[in-house]
Amino acid sequence: MPRHLASCLYLLLLCLQLGLAQGVRAQALQVDALPLGPAGRYSQVLQEADAPLTVEQAISRFQQGFGQPGHQPILNFGIGSRPTWLQLQLFNPSAAPIPVQVVTGTTWVDHLQLSLVQSGQRLGQWQLGDALPGAAGLIPGIGYVVPVLIPSGHSQLYLRAQSPDPLVLPFEVMAESTFLARDREYKFVYGLIYGFLLSLIVYNSMLFIGLRERSYLYYSIYLSLFALLNFAYSGHGFAWVWMDNTGLQSHIILIGMLLFGAAGLLFASSFLALAEHAPKALRLLKATAALSVIALVISLLLHQPVAEALIAFTFGLIFTVSMALLGLTTLRQRQVAGRYYRIATLCGMLGAVISTLTVWGALPFTGWNYGAVKIGIILQATLLALALSLKVRQQQAEKLLAERLAECDPLTALLNRRGFNQQAAPLWSTSLRNQRPLSLIMLDLDHFKGLNDQYGHDFGDQALQAVASLLAGSCRAGDLSARWGGEEFLLLLPETALGEAHALAERLRQAIQAIALRAGEQPVNLSCSCGVVQRTEQEQLEHLINHADRLLYAAKQSGRNRVVAADPAQPACT
Ligand code: GH3
Ligand code: MG
Ligand code: MG
Repeated sequence: MPRHLASCLYLLLLCLQLGLAQGVRAQALQVDALPLGPAGRYSQVLQEADAPLTVEQAISRFQQGFGQPGHQPILNFGIGSRPTWLQLQLFNPSAAPIPVQVVTGTTWVDHLQLSLVQSGQRLGQWQLGDALPGAAGLIPGIGYVVPVLIPSGHSQLYLRAQSPDPLVLPFEVMAESTFLARDREYKFVYGLIYGFLLSLIVYNSMLFIGLRERSYLYYSIYLSLFALLNFAYSGHGFAWVWMDNTGLQSHIILIGMLLFGAAGLLFASSFLALAEHAPKALRLLKATAALSVIALVISLLLHQPVAEALIAFTFGLIFTVSMALLGLTTLRQRQVAGRYYRIATLCGMLGAVISTLTVWGALPFTGWNYGAVKIGIILQATLLALALSLKVRQQQAEKLLAERLAECDPLTALLNRRGFNQQAAPLWSTSLRNQRPLSLIMLDLDHFKGLNDQYGHDFGDQALQAVASLLAGSCRAGDLSARWGGEEFLLLLPETALGEAHALAERLRQAIQAIALRAGEQPVNLSCSCGVVQRTEQEQLEHLINHADRLLYAAKQSGRNRVVAADPAQPACT
């Protein structure tokens, strides 16, 4: 897939290339001192006009000067190219033949035919490509490779390649040792990539099962399809699993590209909450994905491989660009997760561009540059994992805040009934279990209705806030203070016996009386009445609250602005 993306961008740059590229005049490769890297620039290129050419006809065309010099190290003829011939001049200065490995085409090229010719005589011919069952000569990651014995003196290699898919020909003659080193390097790199992907997939699937956060599921699917796509386009699938199923091989990469792209967009739409933040973009993407799938299915049914490739690549391009552009929707939200998403998708795009420019010849051909697209996608996958975890952390923080808010009274910031009940329960059971004292004060402002009526509701609110902050400030750590009703407050005091609670209620009563409120110029005084109780054996919290309420009522009845505490000698009745 990444190489496909590279090819997509390459197509866009194709027109520029015609004017810019400089060819290296074809020269013979010296077989005992082979240059590193693909030999596109040393090759002559010839495309068939209509009928297929035989090797002999191709040789004579090249001799007549119909060949064009290759312009890049890796020659790329795009999607649906005509069958193409490459000619490479070789020179073996030694007296003995030299064994080399010849890389012909990428893993997805349908037909490859390599011929070794000396003095017009064909010394050997090999047929390869993924249209042939058996996957002969396929070295995963590298391409179709043939071991060839190059005779002493001058000889030529002729390669005929034909494929509706992007015709990418990393035509290269390698010394045995170079080939073995390259093969080792690729095995190591792919082992690393598959291991990395597999662990990410398993880990994120577990996170989905544990957390039920959909983005993790979509991310796992996206990674799985990327792994599958890698497995298909690297040639591992054809070389190891479905070597005889050429039908599957001819479609799986393109179908995989489409599915990978769609899974990426699915993840993006869930991660970025597109339905909420960019519904139009989401509709457009859905329509594009649906159209691409329909078009791909039709071209599959009608056996139109070139159309199939074009659709898959166009969708691949749209997908890469959309993934990055969608990141812009996070700009307004200013979320850290969004920033990582943008960096992640930018890495993916940057990798694709670097690989494209390398294939094109504008950047030096190094393993890093050529593989940049893979590194880009790996970086993208890693950063997306980070973005995802940050997003989930943010969601958890928001949930926690919402829960806290649901337990709080918005006017006074004290606990509301729900919050009080929630937080009182563990204090209550601790006190029961350890047989520790626990007291409760219920406090109600006197004649508050009158205050509201006389000075207005806003003034009443201010008074409630002043009382609330006094209560909150008077509590010890571990005590609970709640707004129980309109102008009614409840204090739960663990490790506090009745006497202490009574004294506290008395202090509070006096402090409330001392609050200096003003309605305009006029000073206004508040007063309150309190009921105070201590937990006795077997009581439930609800019973204790009812008891405090009854004592509060008694305080009101006996003239207000006073504290009534339970009689320690009398057990509470419910
Ligand atoms: P008592 O001394 O018997 O407690 O008399 P009261 O007037 O304080 O008690 P009552 O239950 O008759 O009235 C309570 C008043 O508290 C009525 C209501 O307007 C007022 N109130 C309740 N919640 C709020 C609030 O959030 N803001 C304001 N400003 N007033 C409130
Ligand atoms: Mg009142
Ligand atoms: Mg009241």
